[in-house]
Amino acid sequence: MKCKEILLCKYGEIVLKGANRKYFEDMLCREMKKRAANYGAFDIYRAQSTIYIEPKDEYADMDGMFSAAQKVFGIVAISRAAVCEKNMESISKTAAEYVPQFLDGKKTFKVESKRSDKAFALDSMEISREIGGVILDNCHHIRVDVHNPDIIVKVEVREFGAYVSAGQFKGAGGMPVGTNGRGLLLLSGGIDSPVAGYMLAKRGVRIDALHFESFPYTSERAREKVLELAKIVSEYAGEMNVHVVSLTHIQEELVKNCEEDYFTLLLRRYMMTIAERVAKEKGCMALITGESLGQVASQTMQAIGVTDAAVNIPVFRPCIGMDKEEIVTIARKIGTFETSIQPYEDCCTVFTPKHPRTKPELEKVLVQENKVDFNALVEEAMGTLYTVKITPEY
Ligand code: ATP
Ligand code: MG
Repeated sequence: MKCKEILLCKYGEIVLKGANRKYFEDMLCREMKKRAANYGAFDIYRAQSTIYIEPKDEYADMDGMFSAAQKVFGIVAISRAAVCEKNMESISKTAAEYVPQFLDGKKTFKVESKRSDKAFALDSMEISREIGGVILDNCHHIRVDVHNPDIIVKVEVREFGAYVSAGQFKGAGGMPVGTNGRGLLLLSGGIDSPVAGYMLAKRGVRIDALHFESFPYTSERAREKVLELAKIVSEYAGEMNVHVVSLTHIQEELVKNCEEDYFTLLLRRYMMTIAERVAKEKGCMALITGESLGQVASQTMQAIGVTDAAVNIPVFRPCIGMDKEEIVTIARKIGTFETSIQPYEDCCTVFTPKHPRTKPELEKVLVQENKVDFNALVEEAMGTLYTVKITPEY
């Protein structure tokens, strides 16, 4: 007999207390259902701080679903479990058939049982003892260690049935996407901004992205790279709209009219202003950038002060206190790093000043800014906006 397997995704209690609990749970279930649609037919329901993912037929792709579920924010732990009837005979038989495959290379184990159905004949201690015996009978290489086991075998007697699992996998953590508002991510082709998007999505923010291009100074391939990055982030953040705005004319005007040392700062003030406009149009309550303090000239405290002064909307910078190495570690973990390091130009890297101001004063920046018609250029740039919808391949 092949055991019927399901996924048990635990979402923990911490963030889910109080009146908002049902809202969080609904968002989480909805997100899980969206992802499951790519892997076949599943029944997805919840009970006791757990989302159950149960395949409806043998065509459902459990391995695919398992890795997709590991990218859903709000889930703290996932186990693969075999389903059995709520009696000891069925639980023992299932444990004997299902558990040994997980014990290769393990020396010690213990059984932990949970009995939320109090009508069940045995208590949890008795269940653990009996199933421990079954495993010892079937796997002669392993012994019990209740203090520091290599693997924990779990038996759960729950509302809808009994479940046997061996080992647990870490979930993505965080809060369900969509439970903490909508934010606009300024997405370049670099390493930092995809990480920034991932981090805010992890806190429950639904992400829209905004990318600035400067065609023909930036290429078609540079844009494709950004869309590729958005696609990887969307495996965690869910569906995402990427808005693209052209800065070509703005950059040409800056080069023609303003002092070179100020190019980057001026450009960043345009970027933030346009981002604020896009955010308001698309219902986003904050901007998100990949800036890290002191990383480049435009990310000194003074420079960030000058760019922030252009807007009147919260700007979240989750990488601000991180070293490049720490950002790279996250980029590797989420799978954006290899794409980010492909060498394509960004609009920030065309027309870069030789001696950018690192301690700019706002008054002096404004003198330069006033040499061109700021509002007219912003308006014109807004007219170039187009949107690409990114549907994740979970
Ligand atoms: P990253 O590694 O994220 O590209 P960076 O180190 O290249 O960042 P900057 O070029 O100063 O640093 O950009 C800082 C932030 O400004 C980026 O993290 C991103 O949020 C935003 N940004 C830069 N270029 C663009 C762009 N072309 N489109 C949208 N946002 C951008
Ligand atoms: Mg950076």
